[in-house]
Amino acid sequence: MRLAPADLDRLLRTVDDLADEVVAFTADLLRVPTVNPPGEEYETCARLIGDVLRRCDFEVQYVAAEGHPDHTAAHPRVNVIGRRAGRLAHPLVHLNGHFDVVPAGDGWTVDPFGGLVRDGRIYGRGACDMKAGIAAAVFAAEAIRRAGIALPGTIEVSGTVDEESGGLAGVKYLAEAQWIAQGKTDYVIIPEPLDVDRICIGHRGVYWFEVEAHGRIGHGSMPFLGASAIEGLGRFQALIESELKPRLAARKTAVPVVPEGARHATINTNGIEGGQPVDGVQTPCVADRCRAVFDRRFLLEEGLDATRDEIHALVREAARLVPGIRFEVHDRLIVHPTRTPDDSPLIPALGAAIQQVLGRAPALIASPGTYDHKHVARIAGVPHCVAYGPGELVLAHQPDEYCAVGDLVAATKVIALATMDLMSGQRSP
Ligand SMILES: [Zn+2]
Repeated sequence: MRLAPADLDRLLRTVDDLADEVVAFTADLLRVPTVNPPGEEYETCARLIGDVLRRCDFEVQYVAAEGHPDHTAAHPRVNVIGRRAGRLAHPLVHLNGHFDVVPAGDGWTVDPFGGLVRDGRIYGRGACDMKAGIAAAVFAAEAIRRAGIALPGTIEVSGTVDEESGGLAGVKYLAEAQWIAQGKTDYVIIPEPLDVDRICIGHRGVYWFEVEAHGRIGHGSMPFLGASAIEGLGRFQALIESELKPRLAARKTAVPVVPEGARHATINTNGIEGGQPVDGVQTPCVADRCRAVFDRRFLLEEGLDATRDEIHALVREAARLVPGIRFEVHDRLIVHPTRTPDDSPLIPALGAAIQQVLGRAPALIASPGTYDHKHVARIAGVPHCVAYGPGELVLAHQPDEYCAVGDLVAATKVIALATMDLMSGQRSP
């Protein structure tokens, strides 16, 4: 740890003194139902974060995703960035959190947008994913200021939209507009909920694709005179089960993806539709169209090209087995795997801070799903990016989602210490 021992103690004590404010801010954020889709109350939430950042001596700017198709009058996409410059422009540490949340869904025993604090937990949709993380980022910076420690570099905190739907009007937009950019931004920490003693160094790749089967309509009483697109797609689905899944299960990445099952390549059928709508009046017809969307998560070692080729080969196999059916494959979404360089200064800086605050060694992990890291690495061109934040990964998107207050305070300390460590200039990339 590069801080003088007296400064270090004072910084940690300051976070403890700030604990009630961090919790209250998290609860305030949870009371703004920033549900995505469709992207409710984004501007309200951006202003709430901006107001707090201003009180913490940040210069604040709002960045609306002008020109992006999702940025509409009904659902404006507004991001917020705060900047507090210290003695020098660099090192610049950027803390980024998304403030959109997934819909609450069923099964809650508390109000998902009530900001309830009970028995050492803050409840609400987005509590761990990732409004507690945003609060930790803001108050990590604020603790440094209130502890009276001079900032050697520059700190930025951003609150961004749409991560849950790909981050296109959020971090991707900020990266394209060079708010986050190589040469300007040195380090990015994204406080996603990955457990307080784990540093996340990347994620698997995503290949979302649609398979469409075209058959020939016919009378339902004489199905042999038509060609059923449902049967065609069913055959493809059967090949996924019998041929593809065993192959994927045998492939394992060297990247430390958690949980263990996600060390392997996977595929999920997200949805399927074909023939007549099941509800409503039925007429006796052979289905001439059926389509499905698949979510294939691929490994760094597999790469996109081989992943896609394998799917196309399987589709050709299905076409061979079911005569009369024509298949089309359409790419829906592609995200390449992302990995922080092994020698990134972020890893020892956060690792030392975790050891200091929690008294245990950090674990390096990678995420089963993707998050905004990809835009930072691939568009902004900033390689030094990790995810580290409060909250448990397994609670994200669940009913009765919560973040433990103890985790929130610990992560705030870790981020504060790591920020100072990175700014000491002694961990040059
Ligand atoms: Zn998240």
